Amino acid sequence: MNQANMGKTIPGAGASGTIGSVPQRAAYIEPAAITANVRALRGVAPGAKLLAVLKADGYGHGIVPAARAALEGGADYLGTAVLEEAFAVREAGIGAPLFSWLAAPGAPYARAIEADIELAAYSLDQLHEIADAGESVFAAPRIHLKIDTGMWRGGATITDWPRLCAAARELEVAGRLKVVGVWSHLACADEPGHPSVTAQLAVFESAIAIARSLGLEPRLRHIANSAATLGIPQAHYDMVRPGLAIYGVNPLPAQARESCPRLRPAMTLAAAVVQTKRAPAGAGVSYGHTESTPKETTLAVVPLGYADGVLRSASSAGPVQLGQGRYRVLGRVCMDQFVVDVGDDDVVAGDRALLFGPGDSNEPHVEAWAAAAGTIPYEVLTGVGSRVQRIYL
Ligand SMILES: *Cc1c(COP(=O)(O)O)cnc(C)c1O
Repeated sequence: MNQANMGKTIPGAGASGTIGSVPQRAAYIEPAAITANVRALRGVAPGAKLLAVLKADGYGHGIVPAARAALEGGADYLGTAVLEEAFAVREAGIGAPLFSWLAAPGAPYARAIEADIELAAYSLDQLHEIADAGESVFAAPRIHLKIDTGMWRGGATITDWPRLCAAARELEVAGRLKVVGVWSHLACADEPGHPSVTAQLAVFESAIAIARSLGLEPRLRHIANSAATLGIPQAHYDMVRPGLAIYGVNPLPAQARESCPRLRPAMTLAAAVVQTKRAPAGAGVSYGHTESTPKETTLAVVPLGYADGVLRSASSAGPVQLGQGRYRVLGRVCMDQFVVDVGDDDVVAGDRALLFGPGDSNEPHVEAWAAAAGTIPYEVLTGVGSRVQRIYL
């Protein structure tokens, strides 16, 4: 049934004898899906610019192809967490506006400023370190000041905010930097109606008013991640920063998605079955013999394990599509492989196991995988390991 279980767009093994010529483990990436998702998100926040979040290797999709696909869909800005990611974008020859927001003292700010990367400042010390780095390369860095509106992660508290803004304005007047943005991050945007959202937005408004009263004119106010882009229009401000949604996954709970555009997952995780064998009833399977075959059955070995990002917590649970059949992991996920009980169905070595994807071949959605592993789609996508070949469709 090798032919039958191939998605239309996913090249796979021909006859099982040709398995040597096809990838054993692959994440098929559809850049056109990212492009379409960005376009759809632009439509959701038409009055705002869109920053496409590319951190963690483009959520596992490949940072450079993801960047190009997002720009194709109309992204105005690109964003990364750490500077190494931003450098990778620049080294690929991508010159689009680029913002990077997570750096500790001693970060290569001078190199970042020369590469035209916009930087976040959370504190006075950081602001001065960035201004000094700018001076060393004879350039005025462009800064997005971060206010912690109540997530208690990065950013200046509202107590420290006036001093940060005053110092930034002083440096700006001296021509040593330019404040282009004021930004923050929401803790509970994916829980519609959560009271922290209104509270955070109120602090954000105060912070913007303070910045303006001290002479700053931040052109870009931004606070909305995917969930807020899709579900909280009053959080759009001048720019939205979706990540997960551009890769085709909606972080809102199902009942809150009615007015959302349909997003298409851009990644399909697949592997070729290594071996199948008949096992009698009562055979203990995989490490620890945590499960046994309930009756005589066929077992299939799939060459993906926790070293590839198939979380061990998906043991005895992770869903797998093989041809027309939906099965699940039997027993423990190992480092490199796991076992699937396919009953009496006709599965042979070389058949393609689909763990998740857009659903074209009835494969599970990454949400189902995440749920089976007791986690969120973010962790599943970003966890897909380097041993899994990325194939761009
Ligand atoms: C990761 C991240 C985002 C995107 O979050 P999603 O939930 O994936 O949309 C936006 N802004 C910042 C600062 C982030 O770190």
